[in-house]
Amino acid sequence: MAHWLSVLVHTPAHAVLGPVLTYQSEQALPAGALVRVPLGARETLGVVWNSDTAEATGEFDPQKIRAVAGALEGIAPLSTAWQQLVTFAAQYYQRSVGEVALAALPPQLRELNPVQMARRLKRKKTADADTAGGTASAPPVLTPEQADVVSRIESHAGPFLLFGATGSGKTEVYLHCVQTLLAADPDAQALVMVPEINLTPQLEERFKARFVSLYGEHAVVSLHSGMTNPQRLKSWLAAHSGAARIVLGTRMAVFASLPKLRLIVVDEEHDPSYKSGEGARYSARDLAVYRGKLDGAKVLLGSATPSLESWHQSRPAAEGGRYLRLHMPSRVGENSRLPLVRRVDMNHQPRRAVFSLPLIDAIKERVARGEQCMVFLNRRGYAPVLACDDCGWKSQCAHCSAFRVFHKIDRTLRCHHCGFTERVPRACPDCGNPDIAPFGRGTEQLEEHLAELLADVKRADSVSPENPDGLPLRIARIDADSTRLKGALEEQLAAVHSGDVDVLVGTQMIAKGHDFRRITLVAAVNPDGALFSSDFRAPERLFSLLMQAAGRSGREAALGAQAEVWIQTFQPAHPLYAALKAHDYPSFAAQQLKEREQAALPPFSAQALVRAETRNQEAAQAFLNLARTGALNDMAQWEGWSEVLEQITLYPAVPMTIQRIANIERAQMLVESPSRTALQQFLSGWHNVLHAVRSQPECKGLIRWAIDVDPLAI
Ligand code: ADP
Ligand code: ZN
Ligand code: ZN
Repeated sequence: MAHWLSVLVHTPAHAVLGPVLTYQSEQALPAGALVRVPLGARETLGVVWNSDTAEATGEFDPQKIRAVAGALEGIAPLSTAWQQLVTFAAQYYQRSVGEVALAALPPQLRELNPVQMARRLKRKKTADADTAGGTASAPPVLTPEQADVVSRIESHAGPFLLFGATGSGKTEVYLHCVQTLLAADPDAQALVMVPEINLTPQLEERFKARFVSLYGEHAVVSLHSGMTNPQRLKSWLAAHSGAARIVLGTRMAVFASLPKLRLIVVDEEHDPSYKSGEGARYSARDLAVYRGKLDGAKVLLGSATPSLESWHQSRPAAEGGRYLRLHMPSRVGENSRLPLVRRVDMNHQPRRAVFSLPLIDAIKERVARGEQCMVFLNRRGYAPVLACDDCGWKSQCAHCSAFRVFHKIDRTLRCHHCGFTERVPRACPDCGNPDIAPFGRGTEQLEEHLAELLADVKRADSVSPENPDGLPLRIARIDADSTRLKGALEEQLAAVHSGDVDVLVGTQMIAKGHDFRRITLVAAVNPDGALFSSDFRAPERLFSLLMQAAGRSGREAALGAQAEVWIQTFQPAHPLYAALKAHDYPSFAAQQLKEREQAALPPFSAQALVRAETRNQEAAQAFLNLARTGALNDMAQWEGWSEVLEQITLYPAVPMTIQRIANIERAQMLVESPSRTALQQFLSGWHNVLHAVRSQPECKGLIRWAIDVDPLAI
C-alpha cells in the first residue's frame, strides 16, 4: 500500500508555507525523515514534514504523484523540536519553511549519493570506536562569585543573562555547567555558541582540554562556515547521532540537530554577528532562547555588555522581566584591576589634529618600555551624518530623535526613520560656515599618519626593555582589507602575540575576544561619530566595543597596573564616556533605555524593514510605496484586520545609505509597531500585498525584495 507524504524541499520562495510537495512511498516514513525525491529532472534532498497526509483518502491521483527515490539510510529522523524550531524561524522571519529547513542541514547531505553517504557513515562508526583517556586538566575551584552564579543556574529554569566583566570567569562558568550536565545525564548534549569563527579555536581548545579525557576525542565538535563541507557533515552527523556531547559553533549552529539538547550557551550575546545578513535574517540569540523552550534546555546568555534587548528582558520579574540576571563584577586573579579610562578633550588640541600630543607621548613611552599599544578606529560604516566643525551643528531630523543621513548621489539629507528629506544646505544653517562635511572625516590615512608621528621611536628589545634593539617600531593594521586573504588574520594576530608588533591599528575587529596579553594601552581615536549617528544602536555598539577593547588591555598580570584606555573626544562630558570611565554598564544601559522608551524605539517597539533592489531607484521606491498604500487601503478592508493595522506604522520608502551597489539600486521602508504580535500578524498578511504589487507596471525592473524582522540597522 502506498503512503502519501508531504515533503519539504529547498524553495527560496517568500511564501511562509512554501510549496510542500506530495510524494508517495511504499514504506511508511515518519515526520523528520530525510529522503531523496525527484524534482523536475533532478533528484533533491527533502524532509518528510507530515507523514499522515491523506492516506488513501482518494485526495490524490496515484498516477500523478511521484514516488520518493529513497530514504537516507542510517540517519534517524529529525526531532519534533527541530521541526518546530525551523517552522517558527520561517514564520517569524517571513521565509519559506523549505528554505530554512534545507539551509539548516549540511550541504553534503544534499550532494552525496547513497553510496557515498553509506561510506561516510561507515567511516564515522569506526572512528567513533576510540575512547576516553589521557589526563584531564583539573578544573579550578570556582570563585565565590562563580559558585553563586552556578548554584542559581542549577536551581532556576532560566533563561539566564550572565552579566560578567571581561575576565570575570564566564567561560569557566560555561565549562562548569556543561561538566555538571554531562556527568548527571549520560545522553545530554550542550550547544555553546560564539559570535565569530576566529573565536572558535580558542574555545575549542579550552573545551577539549576539559572534556576529551572524560568523553573521548569525538565528544566535542565544531560547526561554523569556515569548515569544509566534509568536516561540517562529520560534525553534524556526530551531533545528530548523539555521539557528540558538545557542539561549539557560530550562529548557524543554532539549527544543529541535537536530539538530547539540555543546555544552550550564547557567549557575547550582544554581538551583531548573531544576526544573519542573508536568506532568513534570523537572530541566533533569539532563536536560542526559543529553542530552549522547545527542547527543554536551559539557556545561558553571557556578556560584559549585554544587548539592551536582553538587559531589558532581565529586569526584575516584578517589572515584567523574563530572564534571570546573574552578575559577576570582579575579574579573576591578581590582575583584578580594571583599566583606567582617560578622556582627552580634543577641543584643547590643535585644530584638525587626528592624534593628540599626550596620546602620542603615551604611545612612545609604552613602546620604549617594550609594551604594546592598540589604536582603535571607529570605522563601522556608520551612515554619514553631516556636521559643522565650527558651531557643532549636526543634520538632526526635525521630526525625530534621529540624525539624517547624507546621500551623496543626490546631495540630500534623509531621515531613515520618518523619511523626511531636504537638499543639503549650502552652508551651516546655524552659523553660515560653508564647510559642512560628514562627521569623522580624515581618518582614512590614519595608519600612515601615525607612522610619521612615531618615526623617530626605536623599539625596545622585549627581553631586556632597557636595551632598545635600534629598529624602528612596527605598526600593523588589522581590518577587513588587511585580512581578506585566508590565514592573513591568524598570521597578523600571531605577530602581535609574539611581540613583533608594537602598535596595532584596527577597526572593531581587533576589539573582540582576542587575548593580547602585552597590550597596556588602548586608544579610541575618533569614537564621537557613534554618538551622532543615524543608527540609534550606534552608542550601544560603541560602548560595548570600548568596554571590550578595555578588557583587552593589561591582561598580563605583571603589566596590569599600568593598563589604560584613552578616549579622544570633543564631548568629554558625554554620559556615555562618563559611564565608560566608571566601568558602569548598568547606568549606561539605564540612560539608553530611557531614551529608547521616550522615542518608542526597540525594545519598546518592534521593527521590520523591507528592502527592494531594482535597476532604477524610482521602481524600488514605487514598489515599496505601492505596498504601503496597499496595506493602508486594501488590507484595512479585510475582515478583522483593522485592529492589526491600527497598531502598525508604515514609513515612506527611502534609498538605502549605500544606495547603489554594482548598478543595483536599493531602497528600504520601515515598519513599526508597539506590539511584536501585531507586527507579526501584519507581516504575514502583507506578504500577499507585496507579491501582488510586484507585477504592477511601476515596479518594472524589480529584482528582489526581502523582509528583515528585528533589523539591527535602519
Ligand atoms: P571570561 O570568559 O569572563 O572573559 P574566563 O573564563 O576566560 O573569563 O576567565 C579569565 C581567566 O581567569 C582565564 O585565564 C581563566 O582560566 C581564569 N579563571 C577563571 N575562573 C577561574 C577560577 N575559578 N580559578 C582560577 N582561575 C580562573
Ligand atoms: Zn555651524
Ligand atoms: Zn525623522
